[in-house]
Amino acid sequence: MKIERSKELFAKARKCIPGGVNSPVRACKSVGCDPLFVARANGARIYDVDGNEFIDFVCSWGPMILGHNHPAVVAAITETLADGTSFGAPTPKEIELAELVIAALPSVEKVRFVSSGTEATMSAIRLARGYTGRTKVVKFDGCYHGHADSFLVKAGSGVITLGIPGSPGVPEDIVKNTLSIPYNDVATLEKTLRDESLDIACVIVEPVAGNMGVVAPHPEFLRAMRAITTERGILLIFDEVITGFRLALGGAQQYYDIRPDLTCLGKIIGGGLPVGAYGGKKEIMDHISPVGPVYQAGTLSGNPLAMAAGVATLQELARPGFYAALERKAAGFAAGLQAIAERYLPGQTTLNRVGSMMTTFFTPGPVTDFATAMGADTGRYGAHFRNMLAQGVWLAPSQFEAAFISAAQSEADLAAALDKTEWSFKKLV
Ligand SMILES: *Cc1c(COP(=O)(O)O)cnc(C)c1O
Repeated sequence: MKIERSKELFAKARKCIPGGVNSPVRACKSVGCDPLFVARANGARIYDVDGNEFIDFVCSWGPMILGHNHPAVVAAITETLADGTSFGAPTPKEIELAELVIAALPSVEKVRFVSSGTEATMSAIRLARGYTGRTKVVKFDGCYHGHADSFLVKAGSGVITLGIPGSPGVPEDIVKNTLSIPYNDVATLEKTLRDESLDIACVIVEPVAGNMGVVAPHPEFLRAMRAITTERGILLIFDEVITGFRLALGGAQQYYDIRPDLTCLGKIIGGGLPVGAYGGKKEIMDHISPVGPVYQAGTLSGNPLAMAAGVATLQELARPGFYAALERKAAGFAAGLQAIAERYLPGQTTLNRVGSMMTTFFTPGPVTDFATAMGADTGRYGAHFRNMLAQGVWLAPSQFEAAFISAAQSEADLAAALDKTEWSFKKLV
């Protein structure tokens, strides 16, 4: 594969951008190669600056569920563009997207738009603290909620990990208010939430974890979480930045039939443009300024281009049968992966899948939490990643991320990706 142009650009980028990238995983460090620079993408395909073509399973880390350049999304953006790109005043499109979000998500009565998933989670915990008058946030080891200070708590073991900074620059004073406990561990969850001395404002969770690779919740885990938080007056926040509009139009809360108090959205909701959102019960949302005292604002929030892309995307997703078709494709593809793994690396991999998000972990498994995910052989994943890239398949440059199925991938694309997987696994043996 020719990669001269990407190499040149990476050398240039490293001189003016830290690490040459604007988000760290893109640097491909953990898979042992340099990043390819992208020229364009269309449908299920992504093309680098050297003219190489790939079937895309990253989908911009989730947003491109319709594939790249979906005609309806492009048309909506183009039409809106002609009227100007930002006004700092309300526009009709914001109402349209808000109404679509509220209609789709069972627990959301009001929604506020921001410009990233990080902003959504950061604002949601501020609101939870303002609403409850309490301080502490409970999260789960291996869950990612963006890069705000409160969430960068190193995952720890033990019954209850009092945070230590997971990043220089995050003060102990902030981190001590974030408790990180193991995912899928109902006993620790109960013990933590029932501890009256802890002053817990909220629990924030990825209802399906996607940022330690895909890890499904045990059925009892989310149900217990909902029951105890209700009992203790703690707000339950679903971080559906990945799962929202991915598992179902109504996200994980519809998929598992559980209603959180607040929901954070991002990725798909912007149709490829920068949008985040948080929403929930009216009574809680009306604590946000200007109605209530909890401050949150944004110069570019509700940006018309981003709203237009979001509206067009959600309208496509609302078509009857969309998620059933996606599920069929994902299930077929996963079965194919499973069969190849059993043939070449029997007992050495674990495939976790929920709907159209999945991860093949290079470990016997099962993978149910951060500790078991960390058992994966990242060296082997790196070799697999490089094999696949060389064969024209674009996977996430980390073992601890999801592969996403999009509506744009045809059965032929998926069959081709399976053939290449078989080729790679043969080489791995
Ligand atoms: C991506 C992600 C975020 C952060 O969103 P950004 O738009 O990258 O700030 C938050 N939570 C989850 C679950 C995510 O996957």
